[in-house]
Amino acid sequence: MESIGVLMMCPMNSYLEQELDKRFKLFRYWNIPQTQQFLKENSNSIRAVVGNSMAGADAQLIESLPKLEIVSSFSVGLDKIDLNKCKEKGIRVTNTPDVLTEDVADLAIGLMLAVLRRLCECDRYVRKGLWKTGDFKLTTKFTGKSVGIIGLGRIGTAIAKRAEAFDCPISYYSRSEKADTNYKYYPSVIDLASNCQILVVTCSLTPETRHIINREVIDALGPKGVLINIGRGPHVDEAELVSALVEGRLGGAGLDVFENEPEAPEELFGLDNVVLLPHVGSGTIETRTAMADLVLGNLEAHFLNKPLLTPVV
Ligand code: NAP
Repeated sequence: MESIGVLMMCPMNSYLEQELDKRFKLFRYWNIPQTQQFLKENSNSIRAVVGNSMAGADAQLIESLPKLEIVSSFSVGLDKIDLNKCKEKGIRVTNTPDVLTEDVADLAIGLMLAVLRRLCECDRYVRKGLWKTGDFKLTTKFTGKSVGIIGLGRIGTAIAKRAEAFDCPISYYSRSEKADTNYKYYPSVIDLASNCQILVVTCSLTPETRHIINREVIDALGPKGVLINIGRGPHVDEAELVSALVEGRLGGAGLDVFENEPEAPEELFGLDNVVLLPHVGSGTIETRTAMADLVLGNLEAHFLNKPLLTPVV
């Protein structure tokens, strides 16, 4: 397979990069100064694209690669891939479901605890030597808080399971009610937000779910409510979120993702009721290695004419 051209869109994992380099003819897109010129000269040898949550395959890239057969994403989310264009052109698409579910769900619970129990502020308190000046202020209990989940898919269900162990009543919103669960279903996000204390975003990012968290939803969650976003940044109208937090109209937020990564709104840096993470939901050595193996397995299966491991298209 050494002669098969694979275009990697951005740096994502050194093990994956090394293995792609060993097994295929690897092109690193981020190292290419003149991309137009590069595509002109190499487009006929590129048969696969490897992307992730930052850079995938948009219509323009797909159109410029006439020999493209497969897009293998180092992510479960598919929002950076033009799926319709891939379908239209018969290009296969794979992602990395399941292997990252536990890590992302663990981190969502971590964010809930960090926001309510002020873990980051506590840590700063000790490091700054403030403990000697008096006890840390009282915080808010997590056990028993009602948790509302937007998108009860693989990750949403894993978060629900974990929150149940903390005696949290679970409710959810998605496009349809699930037959295989007893969690309370709300057919509108506003109703879900009005009836929970912690609202978690974990649905896929699509044109319908962009800004699913808007001013109305934030107001429904209210000054004691907490928003956790472990999905994608554009799920949240960030300007509205920032003003609600600054004005005290929302109780707190735990955010792993942002609208313009790697930028995060500086207005939030001084707020102690907010915990900010640099998009690390699946960021453990074990999980990223399993994701890399899935990307490699899918590419090899495709080029050996075997069934794909995790096909989307
Ligand atoms: P999944 O199993 O496909 O679940 C996605 C859920 O989104 C489904 O339950 C679906 O429910 C719901 N959904 C889709 N469109 C919707 C809409 N218009 N309104 C409401 N709900 C909608 O995917 P997953 O493996 O759980 O992953 C979920 C997302 O998490 C990914 O797409 C990705 O963006 C994000 N993620 C983030 C990180 C991170 O590092 N922070 C890591 C991994 C994944 P219905 O079909 O019933 O509507």
